[in-house]
Amino acid sequence: MVGQTQRIDKLRELARNLWWCWQPNVVSLFRELDPQLWRSVDHNPIEFLKRLPAEVLDRRAAEMALDSRIDYAFRRLAEYLKNTDSWGTVYAANLRARPVAYFSAEFGLHESLPIYSGGLGVLAGDHLKSASDLGVPLIGIGLLYDQGYFRQSLDINGWQQEEYLNANPDLLPIETVTGTDGTPLIISIETNNGVLKARVWRVNVGRTTLLLLDSNVPGNSESDLALTARLYGGDARVRIRQELLLGVGGVRVLNALGIHPSVLHLNEGHSAFAGLEMIRAEMEANEIPFGEAVRDVARMTVFTTHTPVAAGHDRFPATLVEENLGKLREALHLSYDDFMGLGRVYPTDLNEPYCMTVLALKLSRHANGVSALHGQVSRRMWHPLYPNRPEESVPIGHITNGVHVPTWIAPQMQLLYGRHLGPDWIKQVRNPETWESIEAVDDAELWETQQVLKARLIDFVRRRLTAQAQKRDEGAAAIERAQSALDLNALTIGFARRFATYKRAGLVLQDVERLIEMIHSSDRPIQFIFAGKAHPEDHFGKELIQNIVRLTRKEELSHRIVFVEDYDINVARQLVQGVDVWLNNPRRPQEASGTSGEKALLNGALNFSILDGWWAEAYDGTNGFAIGYGQSHSVPSVQDERDYKALSETLTGQVIPLFYNRDTDGLPRGWIKRQKNALRSLAWRFNADRMVMDYVQNCYLPAAGGQSCQVPQS
Ligand SMILES: *Cc1c(COP(=O)(O)O)cnc(C)c1O
Repeated sequence: MVGQTQRIDKLRELARNLWWCWQPNVVSLFRELDPQLWRSVDHNPIEFLKRLPAEVLDRRAAEMALDSRIDYAFRRLAEYLKNTDSWGTVYAANLRARPVAYFSAEFGLHESLPIYSGGLGVLAGDHLKSASDLGVPLIGIGLLYDQGYFRQSLDINGWQQEEYLNANPDLLPIETVTGTDGTPLIISIETNNGVLKARVWRVNVGRTTLLLLDSNVPGNSESDLALTARLYGGDARVRIRQELLLGVGGVRVLNALGIHPSVLHLNEGHSAFAGLEMIRAEMEANEIPFGEAVRDVARMTVFTTHTPVAAGHDRFPATLVEENLGKLREALHLSYDDFMGLGRVYPTDLNEPYCMTVLALKLSRHANGVSALHGQVSRRMWHPLYPNRPEESVPIGHITNGVHVPTWIAPQMQLLYGRHLGPDWIKQVRNPETWESIEAVDDAELWETQQVLKARLIDFVRRRLTAQAQKRDEGAAAIERAQSALDLNALTIGFARRFATYKRAGLVLQDVERLIEMIHSSDRPIQFIFAGKAHPEDHFGKELIQNIVRLTRKEELSHRIVFVEDYDINVARQLVQGVDVWLNNPRRPQEASGTSGEKALLNGALNFSILDGWWAEAYDGTNGFAIGYGQSHSVPSVQDERDYKALSETLTGQVIPLFYNRDTDGLPRGWIKRQKNALRSLAWRFNADRMVMDYVQNCYLPAAGGQSCQVPQS
């Protein structure tokens, strides 16, 4: 018989590698031990195991073949970790001795590790997971935020409230990184503002390691102690120092651990200071001048930009730069003006602030946007940096974002694909042939699976709405209504994302009279689920939320339009797995890629979107719905008006009729055909395996080999 200690030890070990979170068998293992507790700890297995009473564990072991399931999970993890038969073994062998160092200010791996705010972080998390699955040697570098991003709730007026909770490191899947002498590693950075120190944590993401710097260590000044408390929480002073720690500190950590990367991948400009520290180290090690070291470092550096809006790029006043990087500047033997010039489009323009994207572009020979359209927008935006080239030759290509399939796919859908696409389909997601057999799936089976998922989503939403109403003391009637919100058979449209202005959350709700008609249609009703956070400083974003919440409180709309609070990876997963339609209506071309629609696609939802970001290259007329024809207008209000008109027309003319057009079996054959078209034509392209393989072949290998950029610029 398995001893209890052994049982709990094995479970704890499973909990210490985030691999568990993309294994449905392991997730259900935790959940089934105590579903209520599992939910109440926000799916955090470390906290879960700490709080699970020993007698419950014993009882469940007797009831659910627990030990053999634990052993099975344990064996699979061990096999996964030592697997040498991966794509990367063959195709990324040149990175084995010297891995890729992947820098990002946020990583969204799971809701229980709150060091992300939105799409950028989730993308970075998915990148690490696919690198692990593919066996691509890559180390992530980020910051550990004790309080993470804020938790959102709404007050009785629908106004966003932010709550910052201190994470307890004992409950996070992190381990102390020690230096060569066996004591906890501490790195320090000299600045004109005092020495900044940080400790380092390790997170195991399958076979990939993520290193997180944390400034909460003795010896730091009061303000530095709290430097990494919050993600995107501080002013420019905090931001630049966080970025100093991420970039310069990150390179120092690698160095202290004896890791010599062959590639630096900067995921967004936040980490661009990493290049400067690499240059410093090269100058020192090889006794070469700045100019030569820049060439070496630029050759090995890959920069991914994510921001199609000029104002969205990080910029700092020169004084702040000098305060924090003056010491590094001296070590680089650069004058104040030369150093500031590195962050300027026009180096001698003293009024131009120091821009992290400009720095990153100057320090890299491989730059890309995150969709074809975004590549084009970026080439136009940064053309002034390359005055001797025509715009189309600006050296910024594109690699379109993708999502990590095992993370985002519903277990029921995973089973369905397993039955029809072959047992190994998940390892072959990026092959078009894998998805061809989707045509052979029985229409009813696909439809029913999705309806089950929709019921599960509605259940989740009702639970959340009930808890929200209880928290606000809304009274028994409101709570009762929350428990029966939404209609299991109505066409369900999901919209969840950051409440940034350009994403135009309220667009679809403009005409309240029409809305009421469509929602209460006796034979073709529709309903909406909204979620998303506004940045704490974004008053306008909060107003957008409030406007939607006011609509949800209207008698005629109540419980057919709902707002789920505290959008995070958990809420995202529930939504993308259960809706019929995923709506996205950004102001083109401001959505760099967007990835939530890709998650929804995998689960059989149809995208209904402006032709922006990934959808501009994905939509082919038969695999979802387009809003408009990909036009823009220099006057935002004109663009909004046109797009709303196009949205309404497509919604009433195409989306609703196709969904409700049922045959004698009660199946919407045209809809199901479109779902299959979407899966066949898109699933193999818009996933993170394909994305990471593109990075390896077009960026990492050339960068590691000192060659120039291979990124397509179509
Ligand atoms: C996927 C995801 C996003 C990104 O969604 P977009 O389509 O890029 O807006 C943001 N937040 C969370 C929690 C996500 O899971």
